[in-house]
Amino acid sequence: MQVLKFGGTSVGSAERMQALVKLVANPHPKIVVLSAMSGTTNALVEIANALYNKEPGKANELIKKLEEKYLTEVAKLYKAEVSLNKGKQLINYHFDYLRSFTLDMFTSNEEKAILAQGELLSTALFHFYLEEIGVKSVLLPSLNFMRIDENEEPDLTYIENNLQLELAKNQEANLFITQGYICRNAFGEIDNLKRGGSDYTASLIGAAIRAEEVQIWTDIDGMHNNDPRVVNKTHPIHELSFDEAAELAYFGAKILHPTCILPAQKRNIPVRLLNTMQPQAKGTIITSSNHNTGIKAVAAKDGITAINIKSGRMLLAYGFLRSVFEVFERHKTPIDMITTSEVAVSLTIDNATNLPAIIKELEAFGNVEIDKDQAIICIVGDFSGEKKGYANKVFDALKEIPIRMISYGGSAHNISVLVNGDQKKDALIALNKGIFNYN
Ligand code: ASP
Ligand code: MG
Repeated sequence: MQVLKFGGTSVGSAERMQALVKLVANPHPKIVVLSAMSGTTNALVEIANALYNKEPGKANELIKKLEEKYLTEVAKLYKAEVSLNKGKQLINYHFDYLRSFTLDMFTSNEEKAILAQGELLSTALFHFYLEEIGVKSVLLPSLNFMRIDENEEPDLTYIENNLQLELAKNQEANLFITQGYICRNAFGEIDNLKRGGSDYTASLIGAAIRAEEVQIWTDIDGMHNNDPRVVNKTHPIHELSFDEAAELAYFGAKILHPTCILPAQKRNIPVRLLNTMQPQAKGTIITSSNHNTGIKAVAAKDGITAINIKSGRMLLAYGFLRSVFEVFERHKTPIDMITTSEVAVSLTIDNATNLPAIIKELEAFGNVEIDKDQAIICIVGDFSGEKKGYANKVFDALKEIPIRMISYGGSAHNISVLVNGDQKKDALIALNKGIFNYN
């Protein structure tokens, strides 16, 4: 069994849904995971915000606008009167449900129910379309098997057992359609895997059924060696290891959600990135058995805050770093990069929500300095081979760029450097030239 995930643009219009059929209607057994039609989840967030702000009138307008978009698309999607009526009824049902929230109290539980409507709509509309053209498929309700626990972590045993039950109800079927992103929480309420979470759904399902392969279909032919929005020339990387892909996904390669790697990696399920616009292209295959060494790609993450703590107490002391890390732990703020000297430590965070409180506590240790708007440039590959020359290559390429921090050796897959945010573009261009020989 394969798992194929299609993102919002791949189901973003009637034409795109119709084009999807070519990719899913073959006898190979598969579970197809769909996102909401593009723009929908953002629109649902806006609706929820209006309701939080006690603006039911505005919410109703936004609901109406979104509903019109769906009505236009279904009119193009279906040919038969019966299918069109089914589609319209479905839209009515979900939008009446959305409207019901404008009449009542509004809390985060209701918000999550609102956010779930996009995936419920896209999957059912696509399923009706397959039905109309005579392709047999089964709609799997992901709210019956996808679940997170009290710590908001996926409950893989629950997912595995309940997905098996759902699949067993339709033993002869070979095409299942299900919703990405949405799930239930430990209390059985509707919840989600956070924005962009459909990739995560696909990987979790892949792990749960021990799939042959998880395919993530998008609009680009795999992960590229550099950010195509910044540099002129890039190439797709055909093979990556799970570790390399995780670093790239986390440090800015938008094509894959970073959480998507772990479940597949745990059970050694290959993840393939493919392009709906160019289905024949090779894409990127991510496995545990890729041993190509060398630098494979660079990526950048902006909006980084660097924090420097300078303290005489650090000299020859033990336990100092622990006390510093505990501050971040108390404020639930992950640290990305860290470098130390004998009397100072610099680290970076990308979520600065609790920064004022963090600074206040850190000031008890010594002098604290903050640099906002930094960027992490991450160079990814397998540096375990020759073990020499990689750092030289990177710094030679970056010789004109002022560097604030360097991190090398944390793993054999990553060299990270911190630069001022306005140097990000130049750094990526310089690396494209120095490492990949693109001008
Ligand atoms: N529809 C959700 C979002 O826009 C999940 C996804 O597309 O992966 O965040
Ligand atoms: Mg996505």
